[in-house]
Amino acid sequence: MTTHKTPITLLGLGSMGRALAGAWLAAGHPVTVWNRSAGKAPEGATLAASAAEAVAANRLVVACLLDDASVEAVLDRTDLSGRDLINLTTNTPAEGRKRAEWAAGRGARFLDGGVMATPAMIATPAAFILYSGVAEVFDEHRDALAAVADPQFAGTDPGHAALLDVALLSAMSGLFGGLVHAFALTEGEVPPREFAPMLAGLMAALAQATTHGIAERLATGDHTTNVESSLAMQDVASGTLLRTAAERGVSTELIEPYLALMARRVAEGHGAEESSGLVGGLTPASR
Ligand code: NAP
Repeated sequence: MTTHKTPITLLGLGSMGRALAGAWLAAGHPVTVWNRSAGKAPEGATLAASAAEAVAANRLVVACLLDDASVEAVLDRTDLSGRDLINLTTNTPAEGRKRAEWAAGRGARFLDGGVMATPAMIATPAAFILYSGVAEVFDEHRDALAAVADPQFAGTDPGHAALLDVALLSAMSGLFGGLVHAFALTEGEVPPREFAPMLAGLMAALAQATTHGIAERLATGDHTTNVESSLAMQDVASGTLLRTAAERGVSTELIEPYLALMARRVAEGHGAEESSGLVGGLTPASR
C-alpha cells in the first residue's frame, strides 16, 4: 500500500528552509525547491529553475525567506491563483495581515506562520509552529505541517501568528537579558558551570509561577489581593541590584529599563500591586 504524501513547494533554502526541506523529505513528501542563490538544494528535492516554476509545481507553497520584503520580491511575478500559500517568514502582525490581503488578491488561500524553533529543533518534539489565517488551509495540510513541527492554529486573524511569535521572542529577550546580566555579575567569583544549575532551576520555577500568576491577575483585573511581592518592596530591592552591579563594575544596561518601570509605577501610586501591575505601565492606554 502506498501512502499519499502532499507534495510541497518550498521557497527559501537558508538555515531554516534547509531544515524544513530535510524534514519533509525524510517524512516522504515530494519537495520542489527554489532559492535565490544556487547550490543549496538538498538531495532528493526537485530544483525548480525559477520561483514561478516552483509555485506552478504544487498547490501547497511554503515561503521561508529572510523578511517580508523578500517574500514580496520572490512571489510578485508568480501566479498564485489556486495555491495554498504558507508564509513561515518572520514578520509583524500588520505585515501578516497585509500579506494575507495581497495573497487573496492573487487568488491564493493564505496562512501566516511563526516558527518557534531553531533549525536543529525542526522535526523534534520541542518544535512548534504557530499558524493563523484561513482555517481550511490549516486543517487540510495539518499532516504535512506536522512532519516539521507541532502545528498550532492561532485563529483566523492572519496577524495573530506573528503577534504570538513576536511576544514569545520578546519574552525570551527579556529573560536572556537577565541571564546575561547574572553571568556578568558572578564572573570571576563563581564558576559558570557551578552557577548554571541554580540559575536554570530558579528561572524555570519562577517563569512557570510568574507567567500564570500575571495572567490570572490580568484576567481578573485584581493586582492587589494576596500580594506576595509588592512593587514597593521590589523597588527597594532594585536599589540592591544596582548597587551590587556598581560594586562589581558590571553595566546595568540590561536590567535598568525594567527597574525604571518599577520605580515609575511605584511613583504613580501602584506600590501595593504585584508585578502584574507593571503591564499597565507599558500599554498605550497608560500613556
Ligand atoms: P537565512 O539563513 O538568512 O536565509 C534567508 C533566506 O532568504 C535565504 O534563502 C536567502 O536566499 C533568502 N533571501 C534573503 N533575501 C532575499 C531576497 N531579497 N530575495 C530572495 N531571497 C532572499 O535565514 P533563516 O535562518 O533560514 O530564516 C528564514 C526565516 O525563518 C526568517 O524569517 C527567520 O526569522 C525565521 N526563523 C529563523 C530561525 C532560525 O533560528 N534560523 C528560527 C525561527 C524563525 P540566499 O540563500 O540567496 O541568500
